[in-house]
Amino acid sequence: MSEPIKQIVILGGGTAGWMAAAALAKALANSGAGICVVESDEIGTIGVGEASVPGLQAFNAFLGLDEREFMRSCQATFKLGIEFVDWGALGRRYMHSFTGYGLAAGSRQFHRLFQRFALARESLGKTISFDDYNLGALAGRSRRFLLPTAGASSRTGNLNFAFHFDAALYARHLRQYAERRGVRREEGKVVAVQQHAESGFIEALTLADGRRVAGEFFIDCSGFKGLLIEGALRSGYEEWSRWLPCDRAIAVQSGNTESPLPFTRSTAQSAGWIWRIPLQHRVGNGYVYSSADLDDDSAEKQLRLHVQNGALSEPRRIRFVTGKRRRIWDRNCLALGLAAGFLEPLESTGIHLIQSSLLRLISLFPDRRFEPAEIDTFNRQTDEEICDVRDFIIAHYKLTSRQDSEFWRRCGAMEVPERVSQILQLFAATGRLTTRPEQLFTTQSWLAILYGQGSLPRGFDPLLAPMPDADLEREMAAVHQHLQHAVSAMPDHAEFVSRYCAAVAPPNP
Ligand SMILES: Cc1cc2nc3c(=O)[nH]c(=O)nc-3n(C[C@H](O)[C@H](O)[C@H](O)COP(=O)(O)OP(=O)(O)OC[C@H]3O[C@@H](n4cnc5c(N)ncnc54)[C@H](O)[C@@H]3O)c2cc1C
Repeated sequence: MSEPIKQIVILGGGTAGWMAAAALAKALANSGAGICVVESDEIGTIGVGEASVPGLQAFNAFLGLDEREFMRSCQATFKLGIEFVDWGALGRRYMHSFTGYGLAAGSRQFHRLFQRFALARESLGKTISFDDYNLGALAGRSRRFLLPTAGASSRTGNLNFAFHFDAALYARHLRQYAERRGVRREEGKVVAVQQHAESGFIEALTLADGRRVAGEFFIDCSGFKGLLIEGALRSGYEEWSRWLPCDRAIAVQSGNTESPLPFTRSTAQSAGWIWRIPLQHRVGNGYVYSSADLDDDSAEKQLRLHVQNGALSEPRRIRFVTGKRRRIWDRNCLALGLAAGFLEPLESTGIHLIQSSLLRLISLFPDRRFEPAEIDTFNRQTDEEICDVRDFIIAHYKLTSRQDSEFWRRCGAMEVPERVSQILQLFAATGRLTTRPEQLFTTQSWLAILYGQGSLPRGFDPLLAPMPDADLEREMAAVHQHLQHAVSAMPDHAEFVSRYCAAVAPPNP
């Protein structure tokens, strides 16, 4: 017989904590389970993380949030993808767009045509850009945006998009949502964790003023230190710095010098990369770098040179170790967000991993027996998802041909995980990819970085061999023209945002 959980305790009120509170308040609305969030004003939140992947639309829809209201209250703009500058080689730029390549109604896999075309051009000493055949990349380049509509050209299809937003305001928005649905909040610093003497199950948290918060299921959203999953349960940490050498970040906010772009920009530097995320009211900037190659003061200097229009905030220095907990769910404690692990924000995946862990938790929601098979299933699926994202990020570094610093020489020469080398080898030989549909980054994303960073396969689809060169040339030109034409009919992104979801005023501090 089932023994339902009556009390859930979420430790931490950052993005992870309030996403968990909102999602569980919605999913467990009629279960009778109480939900309590414990957070400490003294400790605060990490306060960075402002770009998403398209999946956030589904999470907001699951909660029933109104999109315009969400965008207004979080100073959000639309994100069509990420522009990578100087990654493959100095002077090279490309877009990892969320929208597919070619024409939506095309009957062949468009990239197979592109491969053949690119190889033909290469033999003439010419290079072509994959971006020229992508609706999102072309719209981004022209700073245009249009929401998906039934009326969009059936040939070019719709733009796929994510958001840039202020994550602290998002947490505030979700807090209001959760509190309206009965979630209780306890402010205070946890100083002790009580565990069952034999099983080690967590029973209660003690706050600095002596208050005791008891529960049956604990969600650890306490940030990097993982107060419950590591501090109490000693789950262990699997480190990945041999593939992802960056271990520091400096984040700073600046004013808008131009109307917000509909994409994030990541510009590679001598020992890492700098992000630029345009919101309605300001720009988020940060430098992710390797402390073995660059000291903190020099990194801050480089970042300040890069930031346009002056800093609005004191630069914030953050240390991290790339990797994940060995058991993200251990006994009656599940870790979420930074407490579960950390991957550098190159592809803006932190918030997505919180969201997908939450949806997985809801589908495998335990009772008080905490069935080990259920927990193992959760851990296996979550590990697989995180490793897929990790591999995709590693590929960005591996695929460089930069030789101008020790950092990039090391990245280009490093041994990558077996899973990554299999993908790269197959692509190099045949132009084929072996991603799975359930992966966050599927074929389109891998192609964007492979072509964007200068990889061209040796072979192309044998089924395309009989196509005459002139037909291929005509088809490629027609695709580009159709996409370009569709983009020219779209409104300017900044204008669209101000009409659709302009924030009423700058947020209160
Ligand atoms: C440099 C950087 C850039 C990032 N960029 C992105 C991005 O662009 N996109 C993206 O999706 N993700 C990004 N992320 C990840 C994203 O910021 C995090 O996933 C997200 O903010 C979740 O943080 P959190 O809630 O887990 O932790 P935190 O924000 O650190 O919150 C921890 C909470 O725990 C509480 N707490 C801790 N200890 C105690 C205690 N003893 N007692 C009581 N309360 C306690 C704190 O008060 C706080 O409320 C980035 C991360 C970093 C470091």
